[in-house]
Amino acid sequence: MALRYVRVRTTPGQIYYGLLTLDRTVHVLDAPPWLEGEPNGLELSPEDYQLLAPCAPSKIVAVGKNYRAHAAEMGTPVPKEPLLFLKPPTTITAADKEIYYPPQSQRVDYEGELALVISDRACNCTPAQARSKIWGYTIANDVTARDLQKSDGQWTRAKGFDSFCPLGPWVVREISPAARVQTFLNDDPGPVQSAPISDMVFSPDFLVSYISQVMTLLPGDVVLTGTPEGVGEIKPGDHVRVEIEGIGHLQNSVAIRQVATSC
Ligand code: MG
Repeated sequence: MALRYVRVRTTPGQIYYGLLTLDRTVHVLDAPPWLEGEPNGLELSPEDYQLLAPCAPSKIVAVGKNYRAHAAEMGTPVPKEPLLFLKPPTTITAADKEIYYPPQSQRVDYEGELALVISDRACNCTPAQARSKIWGYTIANDVTARDLQKSDGQWTRAKGFDSFCPLGPWVVREISPAARVQTFLNDDPGPVQSAPISDMVFSPDFLVSYISQVMTLLPGDVVLTGTPEGVGEIKPGDHVRVEIEGIGHLQNSVAIRQVATSC
């Protein structure tokens, strides 16, 4: 199995990056792995920590309509250049945490996606240079208030609610181009989304290069590479699971945030 890089919070509240072993012990690193963190000798047992999203980016840069069949199901052509938008880092939530259904929307959709984690400052990179700026891969759900995306005309509100970017559960260094992104809803055994990442219109290297012509990407930043065909609705009480071969799966339930819950 590929090495799995995690970020955890200990019971006393300390946050660490680490390596997850098969028995769920975490070997703590002295820095984020993309900043060359090394094991510092501290080991955490499963009862001593909870998993957080595996990175804490300065920004999440996402790409719309990067699979032909998804562009078609949205009734739009494939963009001639990558269509970029931002999700604020406050959208991030960890595996097994809740996606909060916002009261402003009547239609919220899942979007299973491959996420890239950036290794090193990336500015004006060629695609060949960009390859070395991709440190690893994880799983994301680009949750979207579809009705607000249509009514607002731009996407900040629809894509930007707190908890609208489940991310994790860990980062791996390598992924096969044949790996499939698959999304499952509730207990239905069949996937609602299933496509190989090789179906992307613009490759990860091209996307990182393209984004780096616009804004400098920083270590630990996240790029969402677009969702395949088969987006659909989630409602409070549902659970949604995104799987990518070679990484694992990311599951979250959908809930209504209690009024008394603080931000
Ligand atoms: Mg998306």
